[in-house]
Amino acid sequence: MDPSKILFLAAEAAPLVKVGGLGDVAGSLPKAISRLALGQPIDIRIVLPYHAAIQQKLPGLPIVASFPLYAGEVEIPVAVHQAIIDDIKWYFISGPPIPKDGEVYSIDNREDGWKFLFFSLAALEFPERIGWRPDIIHSNDWHTALTIYCLKYRKQNDPFYRKIRSVLTIHNLTFMGGGTDEAFDGFGLPPSTADDLPWWAKKMPLPLGLQAADRIVAVSPTYAQEILGPVYGCGLEGFLQHRQDRIVGIVNGLDQDSWNPAADSMLASPFSVKNLEPRLKNKRALAREFNLDDDPSIPLLILISRMDLQKGCDLAIEGLFRLQHLPWQALFLGTGNPYLEESCRELAAQLPTRVRTAMRFDGGLSRRMYAGGDILLMPSRYEPCGLAQMIAMRYGCIPVAHATGGLKDTIIDFSEKDRGTGFLFEEANAQVFAQTLQRALAIFEVRSAWSDIQKRGMAQDFSWEKSARAYSRLYQELLEEV
Ligand code: ADP
Repeated sequence: MDPSKILFLAAEAAPLVKVGGLGDVAGSLPKAISRLALGQPIDIRIVLPYHAAIQQKLPGLPIVASFPLYAGEVEIPVAVHQAIIDDIKWYFISGPPIPKDGEVYSIDNREDGWKFLFFSLAALEFPERIGWRPDIIHSNDWHTALTIYCLKYRKQNDPFYRKIRSVLTIHNLTFMGGGTDEAFDGFGLPPSTADDLPWWAKKMPLPLGLQAADRIVAVSPTYAQEILGPVYGCGLEGFLQHRQDRIVGIVNGLDQDSWNPAADSMLASPFSVKNLEPRLKNKRALAREFNLDDDPSIPLLILISRMDLQKGCDLAIEGLFRLQHLPWQALFLGTGNPYLEESCRELAAQLPTRVRTAMRFDGGLSRRMYAGGDILLMPSRYEPCGLAQMIAMRYGCIPVAHATGGLKDTIIDFSEKDRGTGFLFEEANAQVFAQTLQRALAIFEVRSAWSDIQKRGMAQDFSWEKSARAYSRLYQELLEEV
C-alpha cells in the first residue's frame, strides 16, 4: 500500500532548535505519527528554515533542489538541504532572507516577515522540484500559514498541486504575523477577498492560512471552542464561526521518556507511582537548596512559567498574599515581563521566610521543582494547551489551574469523585484562585486523599502516541474526501 505523504512545516523543532512549545510539538509529533503501527503507512517529512543554530549543528548538508523566488524583479535564490534523522526526511531551506547568524525569531516583525514568507513560499515550491507530491501540507502557526494560502492559488493553474489538502494547527491565536506587510507586498501576494475577514487581517499570514485550510486544529478541544467567542477569538471569532465545521481540537502530547520521574538524572531521588516515599527527598533537597524550612508537612507551592500576563503570574502573587494566614512555602521560577519579575521579588521581600524566586530559565531546576513541589500554580488567563500541568501531574505535583483551554482538558477537578487529578477554578481572578488554592491546601492535610490524587495524575496517558492517532485519523478523513 502506498504511504500517505505529509509535508510538515514549522518554524522550529526540537532538538535542533527550540524556543517554545511549538518546538516540542514539531520535534515529537511527526516522529510519533511515523511510528504508529497502522494499516496505512505514513511518510511524513519535515521542513524547517536552515536557521543559524541548525547550520551550526548540521553544517554542510547536501542540496537536493535550488531555484529562484521573485520579489518583483528581484531574484532570490533558494537552496533546499536534506538530512535523515530518526528515519525521517528533514528538509532545510536556506536563502538570503534566512540570516546565517540570526536567532530563530527576531524582535523585528519586518525582518521575520521576509524570513518566514520566503520560507513559506519556498516550502510550497520545492516538492515539485524534487518530484515528491505530498497528499497533505500541514502548517503550524503564522510562520508557515501562507504556504496554505498560496496553495489555494497554485491549485488553480498547476495540476501538481490540485489534489493537495491542507491542515493548519493554531498553537496560539494571539500571534497572527502582523507587521509583515512589506514582505507580503514585496512577494506580490494577493490580499484576501473574503468578506467575513476583518479589514486588518487581509494581509496577515495566520488569518489567510485559516481562510484557506481544509482543516484547522486548535491544540485542545476547549481552546477550539473558546476561539469562537469574543474573549479568546482575538477579533477573528466571527470569521472562525463561519468555519466551525473545519475546526477540531487535539491536545498535544508530552515526551514521556524525557519527562520520567523514575529516570530523571536531575533528581536527588528518582521515584515512580509505585512508591512515592522517595519523592519527599526531592522536596527536602529543594528546601535546603533555597534555604526554606525543611519541614515536609508544609506544602511547597511552585510556579514555573514565562513571566507573562497570559500566565496569570500576577493572580498567583495576589492570591498568595491573601493566604498569608495559612502555612505554605512558594518557589517561583520564570523570566519575561520585568514588571511581573519585580512583583515576584516584592512578594519574596514581603514574605521572606517562605517565598523564594529564581528569575531565570533553568531546565534542571524546573525538573527538581516538579519533583519536589506539592502544588503547581497555573492560573493562566488563557492556555491553548499547556505543558507544565502535564509535566507536574507526571511528577506527582498537583496543579491548581484556571479551567481554560488545555488545562480544562487535561486536569480533572477534585470534585469528580475518585477521578480528580487537580483543582480547577472557573474565573481568572485572584480571589477565586485563592479560594481554590485554599481548598487544595485543606486536602493536602489528608494524606491518603492527597496521594490518591498524585497517583491518578501520574497514571494519566499524556503520550504523543495518543495525539498522533488523532492527527492520523484527521489525515485519513481528509484523504477520503479527495
Ligand atoms: P508556554 O509554551 O506557553 O510557555 P507551556 O506550559 O506549554 O507554556 O510550556 C512551558 C514549558 O517551559 C514547560 O516545559 C515549563 O517547564 C518550561 N518553562 C517555563 N519557564 C521556565 C523556566 N523559567 N525555566 C525552565 N523551564 C521553564
